[in-house]
Amino acid sequence: MRSLVLSDIHANIDALDRVLADATRHGDLPLLLLGDLVGYGAEPNAVIDRLRDLAVAAAIRGNHDRAACGLDDGEDFNEAARTSAAFTARVLTARNREYLRTLPAGPLAVSDLTEICHGTPFDEDAYVFDEMDAVYALRAASRPLCLFGHTHAPFGARLRGEDLDFLDVAPGEALTVTAAARLLVNVGSVGQPRDGDPRASYGVLDEEARTITCYRVEYPVERAQARIREAGLPEALARRLGLGR
Ligand code: ZN
Repeated sequence: MRSLVLSDIHANIDALDRVLADATRHGDLPLLLLGDLVGYGAEPNAVIDRLRDLAVAAAIRGNHDRAACGLDDGEDFNEAARTSAAFTARVLTARNREYLRTLPAGPLAVSDLTEICHGTPFDEDAYVFDEMDAVYALRAASRPLCLFGHTHAPFGARLRGEDLDFLDVAPGEALTVTAAARLLVNVGSVGQPRDGDPRASYGVLDEEARTITCYRVEYPVERAQARIREAGLPEALARRLGLGR
């Protein structure tokens, strides 16, 4: 069983469509959605409508999904995020608002091998940036492979006993879950990458081979930026897509 792993799409339909087109070379795979379908980008309805048409094996919510559908007041957001949450709430169709409202909180075990979460297995809103964060997340994980999002950057860490090491998440190179270790992996963000590489990022999970592989794909960034400007969203949200920050 293989699946397509998509996180932090952030209402970027141009990035999502390129990712889906690129991913056809892996076969017709069901989706695992790790949250933040919307927020920041200009096309929340197009993104949710597209995902509805596809086979979604499992999906969880992100903090921006909660804010957009009224489950959270977005109090912790910075100004650009708050402005985009208000925009998203205003334009969402009733059906798509309901779709976001019904997304469960992570973590969610999707198999004996894998669980998915937005931030960490112990707190859907916590970020994994450093070694301590990774250790806490791996200790809280209920499966050998924990896939997460929220930071918008590819990340890999492995815990063997008390020993943590970081893994290089290079496009096209599979990370394998071995018997003696636990893996914590972020395959990056589809719609708002922040690792300095503006290309959209996604993953392919192979349950049988026990591997997770990250892929990067170029998409028409200027089209996504134009949509953000046309929607009257903050310029910074357009600019950062070009920088991958
Ligand atoms: Zn996000």
